[in-house]
Amino acid sequence: MRVEQVGDGTPEIAVVAGIHGDEPCGVRAVERLLDEPLTVDRPVKFIVANEEALDRGERFVDTDLNRAFPGESTADEHERRLAAAITAEIADCLTLALHSTQSYAEPFAVVNGIDDTARDICPQLSVAAVVETSEYIEGRIFAAGRAIEIEAGLQGSDQAEENALRIIREFLTATGVLPGDTMRRDVPAYKLLRPIDKEQAESYEVFAENFKRVDAGEPFAAADGEELTAEDDFYPVLLSPYGYANVFGYAAEKIDTL
Ligand SMILES: [Zn+2]
Repeated sequence: MRVEQVGDGTPEIAVVAGIHGDEPCGVRAVERLLDEPLTVDRPVKFIVANEEALDRGERFVDTDLNRAFPGESTADEHERRLAAAITAEIADCLTLALHSTQSYAEPFAVVNGIDDTARDICPQLSVAAVVETSEYIEGRIFAAGRAIEIEAGLQGSDQAEENALRIIREFLTATGVLPGDTMRRDVPAYKLLRPIDKEQAESYEVFAENFKRVDAGEPFAAADGEELTAEDDFYPVLLSPYGYANVFGYAAEKIDTL
């Protein structure tokens, strides 16, 4: 783990990149930002989390770091110890954590509740949507402290890196770290309802588009050519053929506009 502080005093704002070693966009964005002569109005902490996994270009070494929070300093698994170290760094901070996906090119935010912080910050970020994870937060960074996760775009793409850099700047401006103003826009909010299970198969397809409503009776995915049909209307989130081992993604409902 690499920690870089900019500005004097105890930071209450943090940016965490590289939680998953196969998602380099946030790390590159943080490195680009740190290469600039940054003038800050309040201190901020930048953390490059899983350097070992990043070096290997793999999602994790022993276990998924974003399922290991708040972590355990004496654990055998690298990511559990690392989670404890990150928790100690960010426990008193509002944190922006950067990720990327195989499912959606546009950036969106993930929060563990639509609270005052989410209502204030998310409309100031260039995100297409806000997703409330509801009960699906076990072991995620939300167990370490107040956080907003960003899915910055497609894994490994240059666009995800550009998106990440823009959103870090917007977050730092919205929180008073960087001087200046942000633009506010309306952002639709969704709440995860349930995972969409994936049967064991050789090949998978996805027909539905993320954040576009699937109507009851509509086929939205297939496993080995066998179509899955929606029982009820839902909005797909993080839906992709091969992004996760056991689920296609999640079914969500639209709950609000921030
Ligand atoms: Zn990730």
